[in-house]
Parts: sequence; C-alpha cells; structure tokens
Amino acid sequence: MTFAAEITDRATALVAVLGTDVETQDVANHVALLSDTDAVTLAEAAAALMRCAELAQVAAVGVIAARSTRDAGHSGLAQSRGHRTAVSLVQELTGAGKADAARKVRVGESLLRVPEPIAETSVDTPPPAWDAALGAALLEQTITAVQIDAIRQGLGEPVVAEGADTSVAEAAADAWALAAEQLIAEAATVTLDELRQTARSVRDRLDPDGAHRRFLERFERRSVRLWMDADGNRRGSLLFDDEGWLLAQTMRDNALRPRMGGPRFIDSAESERAVDLTADERTNDQLTYDLFLDVLRAGTLADAEAVFGTRQAGVRLVRVVDDVMAHTEDGLVTLPGAVADQHVCESGYAPVTVDGRGNPLDVGREQRLFTPRQRIGLALRDGGCMWRGCERPASYCEAHHIDEWSADSGRTDIDRGILLCRFHHMNLHHHGWRITRDAKGDFVLHQPGDNVGETTIVLRKRLPLTYAWAGNDPPPRRFRPAG
Ligand SMILES: [Zn+2]
Ligand SMILES: [Zn+2]
Repeated sequence: MTFAAEITDRATALVAVLGTDVETQDVANHVALLSDTDAVTLAEAAAALMRCAELAQVAAVGVIAARSTRDAGHSGLAQSRGHRTAVSLVQELTGAGKADAARKVRVGESLLRVPEPIAETSVDTPPPAWDAALGAALLEQTITAVQIDAIRQGLGEPVVAEGADTSVAEAAADAWALAAEQLIAEAATVTLDELRQTARSVRDRLDPDGAHRRFLERFERRSVRLWMDADGNRRGSLLFDDEGWLLAQTMRDNALRPRMGGPRFIDSAESERAVDLTADERTNDQLTYDLFLDVLRAGTLADAEAVFGTRQAGVRLVRVVDDVMAHTEDGLVTLPGAVADQHVCESGYAPVTVDGRGNPLDVGREQRLFTPRQRIGLALRDGGCMWRGCERPASYCEAHHIDEWSADSGRTDIDRGILLCRFHHMNLHHHGWRITRDAKGDFVLHQPGDNVGETTIVLRKRLPLTYAWAGNDPPPRRFRPAG
C-alpha cells in the first residue's frame, strides 16, 4: 500500500465514526453523544492517523535539520529563514516546545540514516549506520518516535578509543546496532521510563569506562540549592549523584511501599501499617518530605557537636510576648507564632527583657528545655510518637510541653512532656489540638475546639513498654536460660 493510500484509509476510518456533516466547532459536542465503542474506535483511528502524520513530519524535520547544519552557514535552510538552528525553525513550524522540537530533530536525523532499500548493494556502499534499525522501525510503525528517541538518548553513540583501527570501530557499531534491535523488541512491553533506563544500562555495559566517567560527572554535579521565590515559597532543588539518589529513592520507596503497589505483606503488623499509610491524608510528596526532614533532623542532632560546633544547626526564633508572629534571628523571616510555640517545646527559650527601643536590659537563662537526660527519660517512657497510630521512633521525635507556654510558666518536668514526631507536633500546635494529663495518669488528646473534654482520645502506651515495666512475674519456663 502506498503511504498516500494508508493516510486516506485512516482518515476514512476516522470520518466513518464521526460522520460527514459535523462542523468543526461541534466536534466535541458530537463526540459526547457517541457510544462507548465508537468513542474507543475514534480514539484509535485518530492515533493511527497521527502516526502517519508524525512520520511525515519527522521525515520533513530530518531533511530540514540536514540542510541546516553549521557547515551550511547562512545559506542553511533554517538560517535563511532567520533561525539560528533547525530546532528553532521546527519549534516555530510545529508549535512544539524546545525539548520536543529537539527530539523531533534527533528522530528525523536518524530516519535519514535508514539505508536505501536496494537489492544489490555495490561494494562501495558504506555499511548501514548502527542506528539504521531505529529509523526502519519508525517507518514500519512498530515503535513511536518518542520510544526511538528514548533508545537513542539512552544508548548514545558507539564508543571507540582514539587511534583504534577500523575493525574495532566496526565491532562497536555492530554491538550498538544489536542493542538497538533488542531495545526495539523490548519497547512494546515496557514503559517509556523503563525503556530509557534499560538503554542506559546497556550502554554502560558496552562502555564501562564511559560508565565510570559519567558516574563521576554526575557526582561532580551534585548539589542542593535553597531559595525563596518571588511569592515567598521556600524552594529547594536537589541534584543527586548515583549513590545519593539510590539512598533517597530507597528511603522513599520503603516508606511509601504500601501506596505504590509494592509486594504483598507477609506479616499482619506490616499489613496493618499498610492500611494506616493508605488512609493517611498526606500526599505521597508530603510523606516523602516529612520523612526526609525527619532524617535530616535526626542527623543534625546526632552530629551536632562534630559537624556544627557549639552552635547547633537550628533556627533561633525571636518572639515578642503575646505577639502572634515570630521571626528568625538570622534573616528576620517572619513565621507564625505556632512555629515558635513548637520551638519552645523542642529547644526551650531564653527570656530577654528589652526597653521600648529593643535595647536588651536582661538576658535570662535558657528555660523550659528538656535536657538530654530528660529526653532519655521521655524516650524510655514513650518509646516514640505518642499520637494515636503513629509509628515514628523516639529518635525522630520532639518533646512537647503539654502546658501552654506563657512568659512566667517555666516548669520543665518530664511528667508534663510527651514525645511527638515532627509532623504530629506541628499538627498539634497549628491546628488547635491539646494534650492534657492528670498527675501521672494517661495523656489525653483533645480535638480542636473541644474545651470541655467531650471529644477526647486517650493516648495509650505502646504495648511492649507496658509489658516491659509491668512484668514482675517470672517468664514462662521455656524462655528461661538453662541452668
Ligand atoms: Zn509542643
Ligand atoms: Zn507522630
């Protein structure tokens, strides 16, 4: 069948579903009335027609690129139309974004390398390019342009050491050509990301020196940037090296596994955790954020002396008594008072008396700070976040003072403190939850807005801890050491 006949066939199939008398502006309304089957057929027919159009477009783009090389100078096709590069012209012609236009150019170029289908190849004909199979697969429409590009990008160009003879170069081209064919076969069964990833792994296998060099280059590019945008959003961007990426990815995947359709759970405790996590109202991105921050914080606490010297890597806040806002000592960034409340629980405070112009008259001693010994006591008693259903271990927790902070309150008593993970501690201070306790009784959580104690939740100790402290009975005989 000719290409023209194929286009006509596909257009006819599409019109057959749509009907011949629908006006352009009525297409959406008309489609809304189609049956399920017709809607599916229409989407299929449209995709088939688009593949034809894409083939034509990519071929044209390839020719444009070939006629717009740097060597062509001002007489190049793109250049003569006022564009610096073929990508720029393609962007204008197709309305595509820059990355998409560049992709079209790459695919178009590889299409041009498909050898002419001549039966008798003369001796002078150069061997087909290693990526000929990619262009051929596109022509046969067994694979889409996006998939081809993923393979091309992943595989890169065959690598030959400088000064190697032709046989080495040919062997490399053969190896890359074989890999391309294998990846084309793979393309039908994997996602685009997997295809790209597989192509990269194959390249690393074919070119181990290059793999190592790229690994080191990625390591060199590692970075964390933090900034505040014009709208006051606090932003960060991370560029990982390979190992860091694996660590971060593993951390995230382990924590979110139940949500990401991971393997089934073998023990019941784990499957319960899975149910909890599925019901958690936080988004995956929020959970990942909370996890990373918890780990960062745990790390800064552990290494406080070694890494940061005497001044802990913390943020010191300034709050005027009874002011609803607070601000950072460094940078004077304003923050809600609830953040300051939470900080007071965690890090204590130093009262400073000032005159009307802010001149300090007296700097008091740090107060209301749980000492490291008291924190050990809290960890021992609570074993981790005491919020109902939360599993965060003690090392990830902050100590919350259940008595509201005021300028003259001051008792730092572990009976009045409770461990909460950062997320739940924040939730408490920002959303009006309260925790109370009568003497040494159970801690009781009060829902927001409940001042009379109608909607309360008793925060129970972790069961293993209950056993640990209550158990004066001898253990069953079989658990006793022999003798
Ligand atoms: Zn608190
Ligand atoms: Zn918690």
